[in-house]
Amino acid sequence: MIGKVWAGVRAQQSAVLCFVMLGLCTGLAAQTAIAADCPGHPDAIGTSRTLVVDPREHPRIGTMQYPETLPLEDHEVVLTFDDGPLPRNSDQILQILADQCVKATFFTIGKMAQAYPANVRKLRDAGHTIGTHSWDHPLTMNRMPVERVRQEIDDGIAAVSAALGDTTALAPFFRIPGLARAQDVEDYAASAGVQIWSADFLADDWRHISSSRVYELAINRLENYGKGILLLHDIQARTVAALPRILAEMKARGYRIVHVVPATLQDPATPTEPPQWLLHPPSENVAISHWPKIPAFTVASAEMLPAPSRSDLDWQDGLPMAPAENATSRGRGVPVPREAPWPSESLPAPDSAATVLPSPAQNVFEMQEGLRVVLASAASPRHVEPPISSTREAGLAKSDRDDDSRGAGSRKHHARLAHRGGASHVAARGNRAVAHAHRGPLKHLVQVKRRHV
Ligand SMILES: [Zn+2]
Repeated sequence: MIGKVWAGVRAQQSAVLCFVMLGLCTGLAAQTAIAADCPGHPDAIGTSRTLVVDPREHPRIGTMQYPETLPLEDHEVVLTFDDGPLPRNSDQILQILADQCVKATFFTIGKMAQAYPANVRKLRDAGHTIGTHSWDHPLTMNRMPVERVRQEIDDGIAAVSAALGDTTALAPFFRIPGLARAQDVEDYAASAGVQIWSADFLADDWRHISSSRVYELAINRLENYGKGILLLHDIQARTVAALPRILAEMKARGYRIVHVVPATLQDPATPTEPPQWLLHPPSENVAISHWPKIPAFTVASAEMLPAPSRSDLDWQDGLPMAPAENATSRGRGVPVPREAPWPSESLPAPDSAATVLPSPAQNVFEMQEGLRVVLASAASPRHVEPPISSTREAGLAKSDRDDDSRGAGSRKHHARLAHRGGASHVAARGNRAVAHAHRGPLKHLVQVKRRHV
């Protein structure tokens, strides 16, 4: 269950109605700042627009793991901060964002919200979007039993809701700790109308790197993608140190910040087309600009070309296939053929050639006297029959028994195909005969074939 907090969610027929009934996110869009409205901060990057999304229409976003991402225009960026709140660093992040009139999305941890509920309310009061990030941030949600997965999600939502005092500012957005995606997590979130957020790029700010490196990674990766969801951590001091430079550089390079909120009845989803949810949607302009147009040929007349005659296809006798003089030298002493090794040409049949070929004579199919092979049936792959008249039959019976002991159980079911003097027939024989006269290669052949059946 998504439980105590969202107990009524699945009882509703409409996802939008669910959020309204639960009071989720009411008024978030109205609080979004506009870049032009940043009193006292003329250099602020601001927030260029608010994007309203319906989690049920797009349940998983972020191209690091999913096909879809937010429908952003080129040079649009969505800032996200994970793992808070942690008062000292999170407060500084909030101040930096306030100074820049930037709205972001925070994925809060249940335990942190329980420990610092006032800081969760600060996020709401500043107009940011608040999602959840599990109860205690396990990095093993992709290996958990489904019941534990549900518990992690439910408890995180419950803790953040409790910190807020109600659910009016809680967005149905969830980020899996460590981005350890799993089908159980995704299925459960989707069943509850919760949108899973991966990211489009990171700045590695949880690693032991300098704030300058965080800045470089954020800007370089943004430049590579051109737009997208940036994942940061508001609990990290290096992120606090890097964020002002990141925002200033984004503005200098013409990037714009987009604030994302969930849809409600009063605030429906921003109209979009499916290709917009791809990071790099296919564009008709690309094909048009890269492929030349087919030229408009002018046909002078409709004269038909003559069909080729048979003589056009005749082999040109006398054409050398390879220069004989240089053949040896090119082969480094190894003679090479004067002609190409493919078969010589055959003349086409005259028009008067008979269409019916003569039947082959019977002796074409006759086998040599004494070569009598009994092909083993499917039940006995190893048996090759000797000539019945062989005088060695009795003497070799023992070796045959040894050889055939591995298949003795199926012996009595054998049916054998025998050739005798060119006349073939199927013989079902109850007695065992001995393979010896042509045992070698023929037996081997039969065995090899059997192994591949
Ligand atoms: Zn995290």
